[in-house]
Amino acid sequence: MSNLRSTRLSRRRMLWQAAAASGLGAIFKLTPSPASAQGRGGAGQPSAGPGRGGAVRYGPINKYSSPSDLRITDLRAVTVAANFDYPIIRMDTNQGVYGLGEVRDGGHKGAALGLKPLLVGRNPLDITGILDAIRPYAGHGRQGGGYSAIDICLHDINGKVFGVPVWRLLGDKKMDRVRLYADTTGTSDPKKYAERMLARKKLGFTYFKMDITYNFINVRPGNVDMYGSPTQKGLEYAGELIAAVKDAIGWETPLATDTASLRVRTVKDAIRVCQAWEKYELAFIEDLFGTMGFTRWQDYKEVKAATASKILTGEDGFGLKEAFKPLIDNRAVDLIHPDPGTAGGCLETKRIADYAHEQNIPTVLHMAGSPVATFAAAHAACTMRNFVAMEVHAIDFLKWWEELVTGVSKPIVDKGFITVPDAPGLGLELNEEVVKQHLREPGYFEPTPEYDKVRFVGRGTGGPWPHYNVDGVWVNERTSDY
Ligand SMILES: [Mg+2]
Repeated sequence: MSNLRSTRLSRRRMLWQAAAASGLGAIFKLTPSPASAQGRGGAGQPSAGPGRGGAVRYGPINKYSSPSDLRITDLRAVTVAANFDYPIIRMDTNQGVYGLGEVRDGGHKGAALGLKPLLVGRNPLDITGILDAIRPYAGHGRQGGGYSAIDICLHDINGKVFGVPVWRLLGDKKMDRVRLYADTTGTSDPKKYAERMLARKKLGFTYFKMDITYNFINVRPGNVDMYGSPTQKGLEYAGELIAAVKDAIGWETPLATDTASLRVRTVKDAIRVCQAWEKYELAFIEDLFGTMGFTRWQDYKEVKAATASKILTGEDGFGLKEAFKPLIDNRAVDLIHPDPGTAGGCLETKRIADYAHEQNIPTVLHMAGSPVATFAAAHAACTMRNFVAMEVHAIDFLKWWEELVTGVSKPIVDKGFITVPDAPGLGLELNEEVVKQHLREPGYFEPTPEYDKVRFVGRGTGGPWPHYNVDGVWVNERTSDY
């Protein structure tokens, strides 16, 4: 053995030992087997070029991979028509490995596909660099869905490339199973409501939520005022619904209410709701000022100070600094409720939960998507130190919901919990046959050339496209260096 070869071997051995000691053994695999769940093209694969920001170079992570040459090559979508639409996104690369993501329930695939020109050519290992580049195009509500879907795709790819589950990319696993809470279709009939919730309890759920809406209580004269807000009488009727459900599932069982559609408008209305329901000791009262009311942190702070009921909001909020920091810094709510499909995917939702944890505010997750989004959320949830429970919809009336994916343990929702996969990436694949049975529009991850050109970014001065130059002349070429 030559001295040079001996030196190389001992260096590799040292790297391996260092990696094993730090728990990163899976990343520094020295075996010839592919680290990716989808295999790998291996070294020598053609590169798509340096892309935006130049090539991202990393150390000798895996002898049999070529992560430095990994490039995003395409972004495609398939939309599953379910209780909500599930726009599922696939991010392709030049090395065969791909990532799955999902735009927020009820959103549109274009929210993610419109970001395609900002992604193609970039190395998907550069998660934060890419997310920084697309952040200006994210927004609250469904407009957060594009950014979030891209984040999930990137984490799926990174997990596959490094041979680790997504949760490992985010932190330590605090739990193997994530607690779910069942959102149940509501009714104005206390008896029927109780029966539906009891049916959920028989599925094994241990945490529940019921909607209390304007329509549910506006069934007797005087239950709502001239503005449509609930009167004291209306709140007492709502109390009949809550009491019937608690009688059915047990008063000791956590029960929350969603009041996003109760048409509460003022701080005084909100305080009246919370005080009227204090005797039920609800797990939380959600979205008193609607799903977009999270911006009203001053109002929430007033409400919180006036009641013993716990209040929560956030499902339509994007970003820590954009939506959640004011709520947390001002102690405006008792719990926060981000949806990883709007809040910014796995990484941003983890950041939000960590920030809330520093202020002793627990995190409940909103979720109404397909198993792709649900597992992405579960990977993030299991790393949170202040996690309480995550919402789930459609588990009883969409029997095929679980069949949309393969590779995970079934049933996915097992007695009110979901097991977080330890396989690389999200740990799942789509069941093509079942997905194709529920398409919103024909085609399965068809090419998306209509999104190849810049869509969300627009064109300013100075680029190689037709525009007015500084002299006011219509030109078709680059006219400046910036
Ligand atoms: Mg809600």
